[in-house]
Amino acid sequence: MYVCGPTVYDYPHIGNARSVVVYDLLFRLLQRVYGVESINYVRNITDVDDKINIAAKARQITINKLTQEIIEIFTQDMYSLGCLAPTVEPRATEHIEEMIFIIKKLIDKNHAYIANNHVYFSIKSDPSYGKLAGREIEEMIPGSRINIEKNKLHPGDFVLWKPQDAEDDVSSVFDSPWGKGRPGWHIECSAMSYKYLGSDFDIHGGGADLMFPHHTNEMAQSCCAFEDSKYANYWVHNGFLTVNGEKMSKSLGNFTTVRQLLDNNIRGEAIRLVLLLTHYRKPLDFNDKALSDAKKTLDGFYRIVLENPAIVPQQGQADDLNTPAAITTLHEISKAYNKENDVFKKTNYAQKLKASCNLLGLLSNTPQQWFSNEDLDINISNLINERNIAKNNKNWAVADQIRNQLKNYNIILEDKIDGTTTWRKL
Ligand code: AMP
Ligand code: ZN
Repeated sequence: MYVCGPTVYDYPHIGNARSVVVYDLLFRLLQRVYGVESINYVRNITDVDDKINIAAKARQITINKLTQEIIEIFTQDMYSLGCLAPTVEPRATEHIEEMIFIIKKLIDKNHAYIANNHVYFSIKSDPSYGKLAGREIEEMIPGSRINIEKNKLHPGDFVLWKPQDAEDDVSSVFDSPWGKGRPGWHIECSAMSYKYLGSDFDIHGGGADLMFPHHTNEMAQSCCAFEDSKYANYWVHNGFLTVNGEKMSKSLGNFTTVRQLLDNNIRGEAIRLVLLLTHYRKPLDFNDKALSDAKKTLDGFYRIVLENPAIVPQQGQADDLNTPAAITTLHEISKAYNKENDVFKKTNYAQKLKASCNLLGLLSNTPQQWFSNEDLDINISNLINERNIAKNNKNWAVADQIRNQLKNYNIILEDKIDGTTTWRKL
């Protein structure tokens, strides 16, 4: 599986995070179905791009310093959201040679041409161009008309290689057969997917905004460069994360970074749960209420784990990427657990809940990590109350289970003569 990763010029926002979480879930599901060893998940890092050059200049730091800093932040933030590391995380700047290899092939096969020190892909040379996004060539005039370069044969032709700008910092300038310069955006994904997955591979993912032009152009480059290549067998595009119905994006300024939420003591797992509440293809409107509801939901789930410290999770089941249905089921299991009196059945529900949450990348903390000390104390009082009720009902099995469960957390209950129960930590 190949997924278009971040352009590392600024902190990732929760729209970017949605994309990462969706493919992390798919990665986990594929690992479950086909075995961990069978899945090769490649997610690139775009570390050469106009936006990076502009941001580095604005901050008066080198491109290397900027990209290094953002890669570190991205890695930490995605870890906080419970995302597994991809199998390979290749950087564009380390694959210039592979890009040049494909560009040369495209020129040799008359799919690309040189004009005014630029190399362009000729969209008219590809009879299948635009199929992915269902567009006709005549509709393919991307971007604002002001920027249409005069050198192009067709306004939809896109750049494979461009010459360096006079002020470019050396780390964004590379040698090529067409002079010093840097690659266009799309070629990096053709090059890195080819290197790590070959000319044909199973799944290609990214946000819905990438279908055109980015994925359309990747496909054109690879299919034209490699004989009989179909590029990806399946395309997956996640829907947008929106704010008041509008796509969250850096350019609109309507974004919240993952870091801002984490710094406000919002748990990464709560953010992850909100991102999974909506089917991955649909738009997801992000708001604070959803976040606080997710925290409460997870509190309930963690309480069940706290009450069942010794459980071994059973294998959960998976149905497509229907996360809203999965989360509804989790609520049902949790309700059934809370209503159940039979200890054996309770343990069974707890095992199911833990396993299913783990498949979604949730409940990866221990309850002690999840609950603050205060929460934990409240929870102990709740359990003592439950135990007293059980004792009053002569339900000794449940009463003993609660005592043992707390013992596992080094918490000892002491029944006083006056009928009250106190607790202390061992
Ligand atoms: P970028 O860093 O802008 O290259 O984007 C990285 C990934 O995040 C791409 O797959 C984008 O399609 C995706 N993305 C950007 N904004 C959003 C959004 N508001 N909702 C969902 N995905 C997004
Ligand atoms: Zn890409």
